[in-house]
Amino acid sequence: MRRNCTLFIMICLACLMVVQPALGARSSEDGDVNKKHHAVKKKHKSGTVKNATGTKSTRAKTARKSSGKKPMVAEKHKTAPLPPKSVPAAAGTGVVSDMRYWSNPDYTRIAVSVDREVQFEYHQLPAIREASVPPRLYVDIKGARLVPGVKDIHIGDGLLKTARIAQYRADTVRVVLDMESIKDYKIFAFSDPFRIIIDVKGERREELTKPSQPVLAPLVLTPPVAKPEPVAKHEPVVLKKHPKQTIGKVRRIVVDPGHGGHDPGALGAGGTKEKDVVLQIGLKLARLLRDDLGVDVVMTRSTDEFIELQERTAIANKVGADLFVSIHANAALNRNVSGIETYYLNLAKTEKAAQLAAKENGTSLEKVSVLQAVLFDLMANYKLNDSAQLADDVQKAVYRKVGSQYTGVKNLGVKQGPFYVLVGATMPSILVETAFLSNEKEEGRLTDEQYQNATASGILEGVRLYVSRLK
Ligand SMILES: [Zn+2]
Repeated sequence: MRRNCTLFIMICLACLMVVQPALGARSSEDGDVNKKHHAVKKKHKSGTVKNATGTKSTRAKTARKSSGKKPMVAEKHKTAPLPPKSVPAAAGTGVVSDMRYWSNPDYTRIAVSVDREVQFEYHQLPAIREASVPPRLYVDIKGARLVPGVKDIHIGDGLLKTARIAQYRADTVRVVLDMESIKDYKIFAFSDPFRIIIDVKGERREELTKPSQPVLAPLVLTPPVAKPEPVAKHEPVVLKKHPKQTIGKVRRIVVDPGHGGHDPGALGAGGTKEKDVVLQIGLKLARLLRDDLGVDVVMTRSTDEFIELQERTAIANKVGADLFVSIHANAALNRNVSGIETYYLNLAKTEKAAQLAAKENGTSLEKVSVLQAVLFDLMANYKLNDSAQLADDVQKAVYRKVGSQYTGVKNLGVKQGPFYVLVGATMPSILVETAFLSNEKEEGRLTDEQYQNATASGILEGVRLYVSRLK
């Protein structure tokens, strides 16, 4: 169900050139995190990210165009410097419980978990050469308390050296990223649960040779004949940077059954949970892809467990997947609605499409427009045309397969929208809405093994057709 699985981002990126006298001193900028350097009085630029109620939707272009020798200097707006925004006191204190990171071929992602929505600001600081201090990016999380035990992380992946975290003030948690080679970054939030996401991009100075934090141990099915490099279970997957995308060969496919664990997804009137039926279809699909197509298959989950949306694409990126297929079951208020539809990630290009996306995401039109502004940047590496082709092939094949075995099956076609589970995927990726759990007849079918097999083999045929086009 997209209402649940494509959680809206609460974002407002604003690039405000702010002179921060109070933060002029480096020692105070890093707060508790690092006190050993002396103060250097220097004005610096900063941006402010407000908890997204959509007050300012100015997109932060920040360092995007400043890719010269000073990668982190944001120079965009020629407006007069604005004072820092005052942050209203939160009703309660947010608890910062976790900081993690993922090194991907194209970017590094930091995720900071907070148990409620909080406001945050980010600032960037230039290097201090005389003190051998690298350029830094820091995020102040307002109205927040750091759980003891959340530790600094040594990253050293060529983009970031370290991520440090500390209780900066009584009500402020500060995250400081020591940068190695950054050209661009994006800071935004996912909700439910609330996470502040920092994506940094740039050119790595060294090859990524070791995995970062282990991703969830994905279930890997390897074909019996071919012997591709194994991906060990319960061990982090070693990522190798591909010299270029192998578009002509699909060797590894990620199958992503939606939801799981405490997130049931859509619920049928008869008690069927989306998370269960999509897992059953996903397991069938994984076997078919392995046996019939001879590819590696990695499942984001093979049991009833909860996985955050951003972790799903992180798994796909990490294992170097060539395709990403997310499997879902639909729901609508109108119980008569039924059918199959396949989505790929794209901006809604018309007002009507944006309204549809807002409705599907269970969010406001305003938030969708804010999301779209960020999505534009996040999609820089996204395989738009390939995803559209894959969606088209799969949609037609599933409809053909299921429609030949069952009566009254509707082809709702290929659609596009801002789906969070697809954001960040660097390979062609789609989301298949197999049928409507809100429809009594289709709920019954979704629990039926024969229907599940028909759906899985339809997806297989679509993928097969897509792959055959690449040769
Ligand atoms: Zn879903």
